[in-house]
Amino acid sequence: MRMGKKWGLYKAGGRSQPVTCIYCGRLVPRIKAIEVRRRPPIDLRSIPGVDRRRVFLPREKGYACISCAKHRRLIK
Ligand SMILES: [Zn+2]
Repeated sequence: MRMGKKWGLYKAGGRSQPVTCIYCGRLVPRIKAIEVRRRPPIDLRSIPGVDRRRVFLPREKGYACISCAKHRRLIK
């Protein structure tokens, strides 16, 4: 029989890797970062004949630190 309760003693290696804030470039722990999606720098309106609803826009995932997220009203 295994006791499943001692897992909390182990260090969560790799689980809380720091992420880089896309606004200020600071390294913040991931639990303290807010996930944001950057808009692609392509303006589809500048491309003629493109149906915006049919084009899949890859959105870059990024993280913002709390102060930047507050500043940019990403969090309430
Ligand atoms: Zn920041």
